[in-house]
Amino acid sequence: MLFSYISRSRVPKLNQLNPYAWIDRSLATIKQANWYRSPQAIASLPGTEVTIADRVLLNFGSNDYLGLAGDERVIRAAMAATQQFGTGATGSRLTSGHKQLHQDLESAIASLKGTEAALVFSSGYLANLGTIAALVGKKDLILSDRLNHSSLKNGALLSGAKTIEYGHCDVDDLRQQLQLHRANYRRCLIITDTVFSMDGDLCPLPDVLELSIAHHAMLLVDEAHATGIFGKTGAGIVEHYDLVGQPLIEMGTLSKAIGSLGGYVAGSASAIDFLKNRCASWIYTTGLSPADTAAAMAAIEIISTTPQLRQQLWQNITYFKQSIAQRLPDLHLIPSESPIVCIELPDPQTAIHLAGKLNQLGIFAPAIRPPTVPTSRIRLSLMATHQQLQLEQLTTAIGLTFAKTKVS
Ligand code: PMP
Repeated sequence: MLFSYISRSRVPKLNQLNPYAWIDRSLATIKQANWYRSPQAIASLPGTEVTIADRVLLNFGSNDYLGLAGDERVIRAAMAATQQFGTGATGSRLTSGHKQLHQDLESAIASLKGTEAALVFSSGYLANLGTIAALVGKKDLILSDRLNHSSLKNGALLSGAKTIEYGHCDVDDLRQQLQLHRANYRRCLIITDTVFSMDGDLCPLPDVLELSIAHHAMLLVDEAHATGIFGKTGAGIVEHYDLVGQPLIEMGTLSKAIGSLGGYVAGSASAIDFLKNRCASWIYTTGLSPADTAAAMAAIEIISTTPQLRQQLWQNITYFKQSIAQRLPDLHLIPSESPIVCIELPDPQTAIHLAGKLNQLGIFAPAIRPPTVPTSRIRLSLMATHQQLQLEQLTTAIGLTFAKTKVS
């Protein structure tokens, strides 16, 4: 026996032997702060109703804003592509994983966005990580909205550029930071969500773009929650503010209104060509699966040809916000101009408690807590396919939940 040769005092304690022991301690801390999360399985097609733990709940927790993730036409397109091209792309795009289908989807995205070109990624997260790290490096400056999505923040970290956060949607602060710091760096990149994912408000894009031009800075906008929803043709916030053709780079996801999986970057032909040669999260990863690619293409076709879907979503947003204002005027909603409507709460414990109460009343709406957001909240997301009766059920359930708990 090895230990018989080592004196007892030199035998390490069990915790010292186990280099993974800190993980349990860390989990315990997360639980103590009420920050602990675990996924819940949804056992039905995506839609306005979902089955969770054998109960059918009204779904106000998805990003499937137009209801396309469960649309028959989109599903059929994914199945046909799988049958024709198989389940996986089998390689990275620059080796064996490129298909005409990818090119067709990229053309469809560029056409929707009014850009020269587009590039699809395996996810929106990877699109942000890789694009930011390709555009800027150690000699450069990033100015980032304080409430940007994690993928933008981590892209900034990965790039190694000096990153300064400016106040949320605070154009004066952004201007000041540019005046103070821009001249000390080679390149500068401003990064911002256009629709803020956990608040639902909009970036003041015309002002941000003007500042980027004035200070010779690049601008990368994250249209994840805007594409398919904003703008006359559903192109997003860039179109909403009539800024198509302006010098900026757009990214987004295929996983929200587009109902599939994957991400994209859209911009000038040379920016896209550059990414194909320098963006590690595109070069060194397997191409998007045929099913995801074809589903996204079918969804973009529906978005482009069915403006009624968008109109229906906006009618639902207006109807819901008006009924909350009339029936629950004291409820503290975070200011929102999108289908994302958040009820702000004092702490994570209250958020978990109220999400549980809503669940008991048949409503699925997740509690969003730090570190995802600075303050806890219930996040509701509305869909074009919600019926008026379902929105009324939501308002009634919120009324019952919040009246009893007195947090409004
Ligand atoms: N940007 C924003 C603003 C998002 O909300 C998300 C997804 N939650 C992403 C990027 C990442 O997109 P994906 O889910 O395709 O990785």
